[in-house]
Amino acid sequence: MKEAPAEGGIARYDQAFRDAVDLKNRIERHEDHALANREFALYLQPKNRLANGSLAGAEALVRWESPELGFLPPNSFIPLFEKNGFIVQLDFYMLKRVCQSYPMTPASSGEALVVSVNFSRVTILRDGFVERLLRVVDGAGVPHEAIEIEITESAFVMDEDAVIAKLEMLKALGFRLAMDDFGTGYSSLNLLRKLPIDVLKIDRGFLAENTDAERSRSVLKGVIDMARDLGLTIVCEGVETEGQIAMLRELGCPIAQGFVFSKPLPEREFRKLYDIPDSGSESL
Ligand code: C2E
Ligand code: MG
Ligand code: MG
Ligand code: MG
Repeated sequence: MKEAPAEGGIARYDQAFRDAVDLKNRIERHEDHALANREFALYLQPKNRLANGSLAGAEALVRWESPELGFLPPNSFIPLFEKNGFIVQLDFYMLKRVCQSYPMTPASSGEALVVSVNFSRVTILRDGFVERLLRVVDGAGVPHEAIEIEITESAFVMDEDAVIAKLEMLKALGFRLAMDDFGTGYSSLNLLRKLPIDVLKIDRGFLAENTDAERSRSVLKGVIDMARDLGLTIVCEGVETEGQIAMLRELGCPIAQGFVFSKPLPEREFRKLYDIPDSGSESL
């Protein structure tokens, strides 16, 4: 049988589909030994205070440095891990790495940074989640208030009450809680009011270049004012320009995270940049 001509749309679609399936298969073949092999790397991105640029905290972000598959950003494997359940192991692995790196104490402040860790709703809804988290954090001797748990807004799309119940347990245990990517999901203002969160991370979509800058600014201002009224700490994500910094300052946003300050860096580089001595523990 002859192959369809290369310029045929269907053939191209077919090839793209086969490539995607192939990558999925290869990822699933490698995930277990990747964990054992320490191929998942801890990257850290700073959160900075807009008043003076000082460091307000850091977010832990995973990268997969795979000898077989190359360097993979989270969006290329996390959705798959959420489907096949491997995300639970990965989230706990990242938590362990963060706990091992405690305390991250910049010479400039002398105070340990709060580091935030992303948790999938899949992980949070697993039986025994809170107990397992406590084993890791308490086992490493890390104070609960040094860890911030980030949950993306879309995690509340189903079983809202089950997710909220877990958050309430975490809150009662003294962990800090952040809602991530606010503005990308469908959470109602009513949900926001009843969630036990400390931090609202405003999605970078609110900063996107828009044909009507005045209207975008009004929306952003409304979100910031509302979060402030609810007593939440506001972090704006994806800040890339000095102009955006100036606008956020004007609107009263206290903290920002984005390439304008730094991209996510490997732990070692992050420590070097902020003059943070090594915590000394290397093993896992
Ligand atoms: P997120 O938690 O919202 O993390 C912020 C993302 O925005 C990161 O993407 C970061 O690199 C990116 N970012 C930061 N500043 C800028 C900027 O100025 N401009 C632009 N264009 N992007 C910026 P990253 O590292 O690729 O991670 C993507 C998502 O993957 C994360 O979004 C988070 O939802 C998920 N993720 C990462 N690590 C983990 C993990 O350990 N567990 C789980 N469950 N999810 C993770
Ligand atoms: Mg996050
Ligand atoms: Mg986010
Ligand atoms: Mg996200």
